[in-house]
Amino acid sequence: MRVDDDRTRVMGARIRHFRSRAGLTLADLAAQLGTTASTLSLVENGKRAVRAPEMPGIAAALGVDVVDLLSEEPPDARSALELELARLQSGPQFGALGVPAVRISRTLPHDALAALVRTLQELDRKALEATATPEEARRANTELRRWMREQDNHLPVIEAAAEEIVAVAGHEVGALTHREVALMAEHLGFRLLHVDDLPRSTRTITDLEQGRIYLPPSSIPGGNGLRSMALQAMAHRVLDHTPPSSYEEFLRQRLEIAYFAACCLMPERQATDFLTDAKQRRDLAVEDFRDAFGVTHEQAALRMTNLLTAHHGVRVHFLRVGADGEIHKAYENDDLPIPTDVTGAVEGQIVCRKWVARRAGHRGNRTTENHQYTDTVGGTFWSSTQTGSGPHGAFSITFGVGFDDAKWFRGRATRQRQVSTCPDESCCTRPPAGLADRWAEAAWPSARMHTQVLAALPSGRFPGVDDTEVFEFLERHAAMD
Ligand SMILES: [Zn+2]
Repeated sequence: MRVDDDRTRVMGARIRHFRSRAGLTLADLAAQLGTTASTLSLVENGKRAVRAPEMPGIAAALGVDVVDLLSEEPPDARSALELELARLQSGPQFGALGVPAVRISRTLPHDALAALVRTLQELDRKALEATATPEEARRANTELRRWMREQDNHLPVIEAAAEEIVAVAGHEVGALTHREVALMAEHLGFRLLHVDDLPRSTRTITDLEQGRIYLPPSSIPGGNGLRSMALQAMAHRVLDHTPPSSYEEFLRQRLEIAYFAACCLMPERQATDFLTDAKQRRDLAVEDFRDAFGVTHEQAALRMTNLLTAHHGVRVHFLRVGADGEIHKAYENDDLPIPTDVTGAVEGQIVCRKWVARRAGHRGNRTTENHQYTDTVGGTFWSSTQTGSGPHGAFSITFGVGFDDAKWFRGRATRQRQVSTCPDESCCTRPPAGLADRWAEAAWPSARMHTQVLAALPSGRFPGVDDTEVFEFLERHAAMD
C-alpha cells in the first residue's frame, strides 16, 4: 500500500510539473482530457491514482511520453521535498504524534519545508532505533532486579504456594521426580502431555479448557529441564496470572514462574535444613546443594541467593558470564561492584578480567569449582566459579560472598587472590602501555560478530575487538618468528 501511495504521489507531482512547463492551467488540461479541474487536482496531489488506460491521453496532452509519467524520480528538488513530507506525514510515527499534518502547497517556505522534512526523518530514525534495541527490556529488567534486591531475592508468598503444592505430591527429600511433578499437575487439574510438534517460539503450551500442559518430548537429553518447564507452566495457574499488559508485567511473571519452579525443585524447608547443616560444618558448596536436589549448577546457585540472606544472614552475589566476559545474569546484595551501563543495566556488561568468573575458563579443570579471593574497589570477595557449555557457547556460573562470610564455605582456604581496580581502565580494559606503543598502529584485526545480542561491545579502535587480546596475540606470534 505504502509503495503504491508513494508512486501515486510521484506521478501526480510529475503531471503538475509537466503541466506548468507546458503553460497549462488545471482547467485547460482538464478540458482537454474531458474531466474536471477538481479531479485533476486530486491526481496532482497524489490523492487519486491514474489508471493505465488514461495515461496515453495525459502524456499526449502534456507533450511527453508515457514513460515520463511512470518515472519514479521527483521532477525537481522542491517536489522531492514535498513528496518526502507527504510520505512522512502519512506514516505511523507522525500519526502517533496526534499533530495535524501541514498542508503541502507552493506557499510553504522552502526552508520551513526542508526543516520539517529533516525533523520528521530524524523522528522516524529514532523510533526505528528504539524498536531495534532492547531498550525497554533492559529498563524493565533493571527495575525488576532492583526490586528483587530490596527483597533480598526472597519471595515468601511464592515459597508458601509452592510448599503447599509440593506437600500434595508427598515429596519429602531429594530430587523432585517427574512422577511427583505429574501428581502436582493432576492436583491442579492438568495432565502433562509430551509432544514433538510444539511451535518453535514456545517452550510449553497450556490448554486451560481441556486441562492439558503440552511439553517437548520427554526423551530429549538433559530432560531435567522438563520438570522445571512443567512447573513453570503450572505456576501461571497457581499464581493467578492474567495475560500481561506490559513488558514489565511479562518479565515479572517470568521471574515469578521461575521462582515457583525453583521452590518446588528445592523446597524452602528441605533446602534450608540442608544449608543450615552445611553452614554449621563450614562446608557450604553450590555443587553439594546442586547434587542433593538434582538440579543444574545455575539453578542451585540462584536458589542459594533466595535463601542464604533471608534464612542464614549471609549476603551473596551470583553471576552468569559468557565466554567473552559478558554478563548474562547477575545479582548481588553483598555490594560486589558489578559493572552497569548508564541506565543501570548489567546484561552484556563485561566483567573484570581479574574476576574468577573470567579466569576459571583458563584453569583447565572443569569438573570442580574454582575458588578465588578478589580485592575490588568495593572490598574483598570470595567467589566460587563453575564453567560449563551450552548451545550458545561456554559460560561460567559464579556464586560468592564478602570476605567475612567466606568462612562458611568450602574453598575458603584457596590461595588464589587477584586485585581488581575496575572500573579504572588501567585495571584490565586498557592494553599495557608497552604493548600499545608496540602494536597500536600496526594491528588491523577484523571483528567477529557477537552472538549475544545484549552484549556490549568492547570499545577500542575497532568496535567489537578486544585490543589487549589482539596485541597479546600479535606479541606471542611475533616472538615465534
Ligand atoms: Zn579489571
